[in-house]
Amino acid sequence: MHLSKEILNYIESHNQEAIDLLIELAQIPAPSNHEEKRATFCKDWFKTQGCKNVYIDEALNVIWPIGVTDDNPVAVIMAHSDVVFPDTTPLPLAIAEGKIHCPGIIDDTANAVALMMAAKYIAQNNLLPKGMGVLLVVNSGEEGLGNLKGSRQIVKDFEGRIKEFISFDDKNSHGVNTAVGSKRYEIEVTTEGGHSFNDFGNRNSIAQLASIINKLYDVTLPPKGKTTYNVGLISGGTSVNTIAQQAKMLFEFRSDERDSLAYMESYLQSVISDFREKGLNISVNLVGDRPCGIEIEHTKQQALESRAQDANKKYYDTAIDFGPGSTDCNIPLSFGIPSICIGCCYGQGAHTREEWMDIDSLDGGIKVAFEMILHYFY
Ligand SMILES: [Zn+2]
Repeated sequence: MHLSKEILNYIESHNQEAIDLLIELAQIPAPSNHEEKRATFCKDWFKTQGCKNVYIDEALNVIWPIGVTDDNPVAVIMAHSDVVFPDTTPLPLAIAEGKIHCPGIIDDTANAVALMMAAKYIAQNNLLPKGMGVLLVVNSGEEGLGNLKGSRQIVKDFEGRIKEFISFDDKNSHGVNTAVGSKRYEIEVTTEGGHSFNDFGNRNSIAQLASIINKLYDVTLPPKGKTTYNVGLISGGTSVNTIAQQAKMLFEFRSDERDSLAYMESYLQSVISDFREKGLNISVNLVGDRPCGIEIEHTKQQALESRAQDANKKYYDTAIDFGPGSTDCNIPLSFGIPSICIGCCYGQGAHTREEWMDIDSLDGGIKVAFEMILHYFY
């Protein structure tokens, strides 16, 4: 579709309002699983703009259903509220030389603002969706141990009804159309430990955990797709003269191929059971589980991607580099629902405290968001 001159004028005349909204929203802390403050802010904002029946679900998704009945098909468009930063006080924000610096600004606050501005336009003009209902969602739990909580809840609550799924996330140059599945584990070793001199010879949990890690890093990667693994954090022990009684780590593996993900799972389990057979006490706790995709009707997926390419080309004059990724799309892709993740801003430094967004890039991003969303409306 093409945005009319009237809509383009609307977006341009609301540009400062969008920037002001972004500045306000970006400072509200929203660590994964504690998005309450942002969710409440967004819900109130939607209501003030005239969006009806906006609600917050049990996963802390803020949802505006438009033309959604008890059983009609729906399109889902979402952007996530959570950030990777654990801050519970306002996030630091600074504006300099055409950039907004703030942790979480491109991942994913600016994208949420693009979606919200489209919602405002729809509410003000009483637009009606055509062919299917539309869910506009500022969702929770995309990052890390949020474990795609928000996306899971939407796909569960609207099971069998979602025809297309779009997530606005991160910067505009990169897109995701394939799900990288992952599993994340907390693995803990406990031993008898003891005094480093008097009890020398007793098993040391840190040394045992290190042996497990070495074994995990001996894996021969499966040939199908791209598969990775990582020990990201270790902790344990008591003091320099204590044989460590306890040590644990966070371990993950990822792949864009189901079979390869299953291979990594069975390798991990075989390593753990070998060490258990030697009498070691190991607890294994699954802390993250993101599925790979399944086969998707090619023409429908292609149509969705080319709509995004057209919009991006128009307003940014670049192509989106689509590839595999771990995003909110993992859940719908695992059900065979055509899904893409694209960005509505430009900046750098996602997941670092130096994250910034180019202020001028928001205008094009809002236009991309309008074009993608208004596709579903008369
Ligand atoms: Zn994100």
